Amino acid sequence: MNTPKAAKRICFDRHLPGHLHVPHRSISQGPTMAARAIAIRNRQWTKGQTLEVSFRGGNSTQQDMVRTIAPEWCKHANLKLAFTNKPSALIRVSFDPNEGAWSYVGRDNESIPTDAATMNLGWQDKAVILHEFGHMIGLAHEHQNPQGGIRWNEAAVIADLSGPPNHWDEATIRHNVLDKYRMDQILGTEFDPLSIMLYSFPAEWTVGGAGTQMNKDLSPKDKAFVGGPQMYPGVGVEVLPRLNVHTPAAAAISQPGEQDVFVFTVVRTGTYVVETHGAVDLVMSLYGPDSSSKLVATDDDSGASRNPRIEASLTPGEYRLQVHSYGASASGPYRVSVVG
Ligand SMILES: [Zn+2]
Repeated sequence: MNTPKAAKRICFDRHLPGHLHVPHRSISQGPTMAARAIAIRNRQWTKGQTLEVSFRGGNSTQQDMVRTIAPEWCKHANLKLAFTNKPSALIRVSFDPNEGAWSYVGRDNESIPTDAATMNLGWQDKAVILHEFGHMIGLAHEHQNPQGGIRWNEAAVIADLSGPPNHWDEATIRHNVLDKYRMDQILGTEFDPLSIMLYSFPAEWTVGGAGTQMNKDLSPKDKAFVGGPQMYPGVGVEVLPRLNVHTPAAAAISQPGEQDVFVFTVVRTGTYVVETHGAVDLVMSLYGPDSSSKLVATDDDSGASRNPRIEASLTPGEYRLQVHSYGASASGPYRVSVVG
């Protein structure tokens, strides 16, 4: 069996229709080559969250590789992976060799029917496992970074990917390779040539013939970004602020892109209202009970003055509340309350 050429190993990061984060053409050819990975805005999980992962097929060797390699992200990002046999696990990995490699991005995974896989590893090595789990925790393709310095030889890219094994049409090639995100669709800005989210491209695909190298591990900037304030800070030192039912608390999105996470405990079953007050346009998601990754509800504008408001019947246990701003540049103080 032939090993696919590195250049053909272009993964397809799947996006749900209707979301704003479809890549767009960009004329930006940012001069900077320093820095960090990019993530799709508002697709992050809750920091500290446990994500259940199960397998759809695959032999024990393939499954063991995933169990061994994927948790590398969790040394840097404040997330936990829990491998399970549950068919309903939030993340469901298949190993179809005819399907290439792809994953849904971040919380888009919540919307996928449980009879379908959320990730496929059509081949298995350290790079592709880390890359696809990078998508799963919310990261985008580094070659679609609007600050990216890659200048494509578009004709060569299209000619190559139109043929086997991809057989992609031009629209698909533009979506997966050539198009860039808009700056307001992403977190993180500068291009990182060492990122695991950057694939290896052959020299003939680029103007000037530089190509990109094959990155096989998390780069220092990948590690710093996923553990940074816009993604999943606090690995190993998880201290989430606690809300008391009936006692409003003051909080703030202190920088654009930051997410706040609160925990509160429900003692008796009943209907509870969780809401924020303030001038910042916030989005709120409620998870629980306890360490499950189950989404109870998410809301944008149901409350007063475009504040989020969730009314839900909750059973006893500990719940996590994720709050982030809706707009790309919004920040400021707010108050949050749980009443039941
Ligand atoms: Zn990818």
